[in-house]
Amino acid sequence: MTPKNNSERVLVIGLDGATFNLITPLMAQGLLPNLARMMQEGSWGTLRSTIQPSSEQAWAAFMTGTNNGKFGVYGFQKRRPDSYQFDYVNGRSISGRSLWRILSDRGKQVIVINVPMTYPPEWVNGVLISGLMTPGVHSQFTYPDGIYEELCEVCGDYRIDVDIESGQLSPEQLLSLGDEAIEMIRLRTCATLHLARTRPWDFLMAMYDASDRLAHKFWKYWDVTHPLHDPALADTLGQVLPRIYQELDKAVGELQAALADENTAVYIISDHGFGPMEKAVYLNRWLAQKGYLALKEGVSLDPREQAQLALRAGLRKAVHKLDSPWVSRMKRWAFHRFSGLKGTLYSSVAFAQMDWSKTQAYALGTMGNIYLNLKGREPQGIVEPGEEAEAVIARLMADLRKLRDPDTGEPVFFAVYRGSELYHGPHADKAPDVVGVKSHRYHVVTADWQSGDEVVVKLGSDLHFVSDQSGQHALDGVLFARGPGIRAGWQVQDARLMDMAPTILYTLGEGIPENMDGAVLKTLFAPDWLAQRPPTIVADTAVAERSGPDEDESDEDREAVRKHLAGLGYLD
Ligand SMILES: [Zn+2]
Repeated sequence: MTPKNNSERVLVIGLDGATFNLITPLMAQGLLPNLARMMQEGSWGTLRSTIQPSSEQAWAAFMTGTNNGKFGVYGFQKRRPDSYQFDYVNGRSISGRSLWRILSDRGKQVIVINVPMTYPPEWVNGVLISGLMTPGVHSQFTYPDGIYEELCEVCGDYRIDVDIESGQLSPEQLLSLGDEAIEMIRLRTCATLHLARTRPWDFLMAMYDASDRLAHKFWKYWDVTHPLHDPALADTLGQVLPRIYQELDKAVGELQAALADENTAVYIISDHGFGPMEKAVYLNRWLAQKGYLALKEGVSLDPREQAQLALRAGLRKAVHKLDSPWVSRMKRWAFHRFSGLKGTLYSSVAFAQMDWSKTQAYALGTMGNIYLNLKGREPQGIVEPGEEAEAVIARLMADLRKLRDPDTGEPVFFAVYRGSELYHGPHADKAPDVVGVKSHRYHVVTADWQSGDEVVVKLGSDLHFVSDQSGQHALDGVLFARGPGIRAGWQVQDARLMDMAPTILYTLGEGIPENMDGAVLKTLFAPDWLAQRPPTIVADTAVAERSGPDEDESDEDREAVRKHLAGLGYLD
């Protein structure tokens, strides 16, 4: 007799940036009872992120089960063809069908709450509330319409993200940021429980982001090994991250108790890990020193001053000054992490001053992605594709491997790749040409490369836009799994984020589209269970298109962004 479907339902709880670096010590103190129970009753292990381990591409890999070369996202910014301008990514930037699109197309009912990169919301068979990269609650960020109002009525409020402030905040402000994050977690749980109880579902995913947003800001207060740790603040600000994790653990317990019966599989995942951030790496400055990048002659102001002047003049003017296509994109980037936002402004100013006729390569983003200034691709490209490009790439990779931390002698990038060896698929041509992978200890700065000589700089109050951050992403996120057929007390090895979509489809007894690069995490399951229910691969002939509303670029959205930025102290 053939066994029936593996599980009737799947509940996924996303904890953005959750890491065993925090979970393990907190669990040892008995502070995370629900996650500890998951480990006893189910399987657990690290979950390898994408390269780079950044939320936008990581969640895209999760939802499509493919590598960046197929879904086509390599950072928060994507290069505009034939220009040195950048657009900000959102759900529309992702090629390929999402897990919830596939399930919807097969008649399954889904509820998807606050997953990054889902704005504008797809028309799924169920409910979708978009997450990171959503303009705000005033935008049409739910499918169907009206969900926001419903949640406000039931739960009192609904928030997409915490308002992360930049710069140096007072201890009181930081503590209230912690309170706000905890309130947001509670609202998210309320929203999830309400939707789950009032709508039918086969697949439900609820996403919490406080574990990422606050880890950037609060790491040094908690981690006594961090160079900027202040013991005087350990009892107050040092308790914020543990409190956030305890609140998330409580949410995990509540959702499972209310929603997961014996026929429901539960997956708890993060998109990347976290660890202490200690130094900034000025990558474009390094490229300039190595002769790969040149600045226009006669530029007097450094980009930091220019950016500040421009910002003081008001956001509209600032953006107009920088590059007009930005205006229409502003609403998207304004709502993601502040460092990314600020770094982007700076990099645009810096790029405007580059002498492209003498520039072979430039870095973009906060991770370690480098692009050649390629003839035929970049408007003023100087590197000939083919042999010359290969030679520049080879030399650049060799140089990048030699870039060391002056304090420790360690290489800044523990791995250096050609984009073409990491990524494959129809969008591999948009990949960075050289990819340096660093640990959480370093934060890459791709602007502000003229005013100074040092490439690797310790964090401190004089570092203007990373000084208020002390945590950064790491490659290894977390996975907890429990449910029918899933082994108990088992540590799973070598699990990757891109394996989750096929694993979830398998869990629901669904065939896995052959286009997916991830694979079912077979070692999660008891061997006899697996033997009776072998995974099936199916041809995926469906058109890989999103379905959703057209974007609106309203003045209201832009004004909301301006206010948001002003509220962050960004327009002083
Ligand atoms: Zn993330």
